[in-house]
Amino acid sequence: MAKFYLTVNKQRKDKLDWFGEREGTFKVAIGGDGARFGKDDQALAWLVSFLNCGKRVCSSGENFLLFGANCSEDCEPVSRYVTMLEEVVLSFKFELLPNDMKYLAFLAGELSISASYFSPFADVKKDDINSVQGTFGQLSQNKWHPWKYSDRIRVAAAVEKKKVEQKSRQEFPPLVGDFIEKAKAEPLHLKNNAWQQWNSFVLKYALSRTDVRNCDTVFEVLTNSCFGVTMDDDQQSHTFKLHVFAYTGINLRDAVSLFSRVTISSEQIQTSVKVTAFFLSATPTSWTIGHIVPAHARQIHQSLGMGLGVNTMEEREAKHIALAKFTRNTQFSNRWLQVFRHEYVSLVWLRENGCDEIVHKETSGVYIPKRCYSDQFCHCGQPKQAHDEKCTFCSAQLQRVVSECVIQRKITNDPKAVYN
Ligand SMILES: [Zn+2]
Repeated sequence: MAKFYLTVNKQRKDKLDWFGEREGTFKVAIGGDGARFGKDDQALAWLVSFLNCGKRVCSSGENFLLFGANCSEDCEPVSRYVTMLEEVVLSFKFELLPNDMKYLAFLAGELSISASYFSPFADVKKDDINSVQGTFGQLSQNKWHPWKYSDRIRVAAAVEKKKVEQKSRQEFPPLVGDFIEKAKAEPLHLKNNAWQQWNSFVLKYALSRTDVRNCDTVFEVLTNSCFGVTMDDDQQSHTFKLHVFAYTGINLRDAVSLFSRVTISSEQIQTSVKVTAFFLSATPTSWTIGHIVPAHARQIHQSLGMGLGVNTMEEREAKHIALAKFTRNTQFSNRWLQVFRHEYVSLVWLRENGCDEIVHKETSGVYIPKRCYSDQFCHCGQPKQAHDEKCTFCSAQLQRVVSECVIQRKITNDPKAVYN
């Protein structure tokens, strides 16, 4: 692979990045996931990518198949394969381990993502995620701390001797050894889960304000009802809720925009620290966005000069879809042999022989629309007067009340008055 990259690098305009180290120092990301090949067809694929590609690392063409099998992602042969990988990992500069949280728990030797210890990154329990004063860090005054490799080994050894009380999160030493320390929060699953939760909060509220007993389809819902969101008989407590939805929605949009980036400036890294996920009640997802994401984004920026987006599984998911398409034209018994051959011809051989893109194609999609930075529009996206700082909604008194609670990290007296 190194030879392949050195060959194609000669033609490319966006050259490989050596991170200030000797030319030829490759930094590698590796991760596995169940491949969705169809109903009753279980398969798994491990992919490897080279961070030296810069932004290209987000393209499925820069993610290479390392291992594929017709089995579940956490079965015994996979455990053995991962243990074998650990030895390889030691002799290369492996930097990232992009996997979803469930799979990270397996690679880390934890009980399959336990309900109370939901985060493979910290000693946090689900019961105490609603503590808005709590912080995450290395210091003793921090409420939550990283769940370190040394802790994992110590607890796993104690479990082995059965000296620890039952329900320990750490059942075995991590399959990938101390490489587990390189695991970071993964942007794709985080943003998808967060938006899904936000949408369901809004939908639940909307349904609670509407009588849909006589409606069979959404088109039969009365026009003055929930799906228009504001209603004539709205009280201040309802309007306050809408402001909370708006505030959390815009903050989530801004946070996702920052933590999904591959290139990010030092200033932007600092802002992402201030962006805290505030939901109506905390969820493991919002807790991770609020506490783990800023810390991991800073670590990646320090070591690689890149954003957390470099750890995304977006291109890996795209790759799984491509693999599923390839396999439709293969025979089940030698499916992987054919897939690997196709992969070699299309991704390596053709490109070594001149069929490679010279420049990287940038995506045109952005999380924050361009108009949000103009005079005619507010940061939220609503139109405003050019001389005003914000739109009427964002400058409303209740919006300031929500914002003040977030700054003070507590429910102030103002919202309490709204509800009384
Ligand atoms: Zn606005």
